Amino acid sequence: MHLSPVGISRRCFLGSLALCALLLLLIPTLQTPPRQGSFPQPRPQPRDEHRAQNASSNAKDPIPSQTQGPRIFTGSRSRDPLELRDIFIAVKTTRKYHKSRLQLLFQTWVSEAKEQTFIFTDGEDPELKKKAGGNIINTNCSAAHTRQALCCKMSVEYDKFIESQKKWFCHMDDDNYVILPSLLRLLSSFSHTQDVYLGRPSLDHPIHAAERVKSDGLTSVKFWFATGGAGFCISRGLALKMSPWASLGNFITTAEKIRLPDDCTVGYIIEALLEVPLTHTLLFHSHLENLQRLRTDSILKQVTLSYGGFENRRNVVSIAGGFSLAEDPSRFKTVHCFLYPETRWCPHKVRH
Ligand code: UDP
Ligand code: MN
Repeated sequence: MHLSPVGISRRCFLGSLALCALLLLLIPTLQTPPRQGSFPQPRPQPRDEHRAQNASSNAKDPIPSQTQGPRIFTGSRSRDPLELRDIFIAVKTTRKYHKSRLQLLFQTWVSEAKEQTFIFTDGEDPELKKKAGGNIINTNCSAAHTRQALCCKMSVEYDKFIESQKKWFCHMDDDNYVILPSLLRLLSSFSHTQDVYLGRPSLDHPIHAAERVKSDGLTSVKFWFATGGAGFCISRGLALKMSPWASLGNFITTAEKIRLPDDCTVGYIIEALLEVPLTHTLLFHSHLENLQRLRTDSILKQVTLSYGGFENRRNVVSIAGGFSLAEDPSRFKTVHCFLYPETRWCPHKVRH
């Protein structure tokens, strides 16, 4: 067939017109969809049963409707309400205190946070295991009250927390009462993705130590640390950054280098190495302070309590309720019955 040059160019012209039209039709479908993941999306609101479980948290606050955009921290009205199950609570103990100290904790606050409380001990105890199930961790650390043994336990606590995927790590001693609603309220006002280290400084000034991790020990560093006996909390975001000095046994190496106890070593890693400041809070309490000075009407608003010195003058919080000092020397049962009056063993008269 003979094709004239004019015929070819007309065909070419019509062909390219058809191609253009086809391309125009295809452009919208070829475009990539707008990226949903580029900004944090609001989570669905929690179901009512979750709210009821955590009745005292800010989960009761109405959650403002959200348009697309970066998540901006707006104080305690978090759009991502924290639940008790987001917190990993580590309790450090030792075999000889399973009966005298742990039993009281299981009877009181641990019973309200069974799923997220993990007991770090140093000896097998089938009876305790029966009661606490899988949340008893035998660290195989020495049962001595030495720096090495205590740092060994902290190292295992850290690794288990990282493994857990929970949002917050809170360390407690076995003579702490954790007021769970207050803990939840406090942590809800921060974001677990930010660098947060919360606790009570044990001194009124930072401590000085020879810098032996980043340099040869000739220079000195100054840092605050949260006293372990009052409990402290670390956000997941910050805990992940601690990994080079804290994970898989590195915590013990770090503590040995600076020759300081477990809680000081945590402060050293966070304040001195990562340069994240401790957020000081006086809501955490150890028996190093005079607990009788705590105002009675503020006791239930604290985050942790402790007790000490039964032998001489009792150093316990001053709270009157259903139990005498002889029945409840630590005052933990009395505190518990104010917080959870429906508990089976609570005396009827302290019920609201
Ligand atoms: N602890 C331990 N091993 C020991 C002695 C104590 O793990 O050999 C734990 C104990 O269970 C508690 C913490 O260390 O959680 C602090 O112990 P304690 O209250 O006896 O001492 P203090 O508060 O006076 O430092
Ligand atoms: Mn103690």
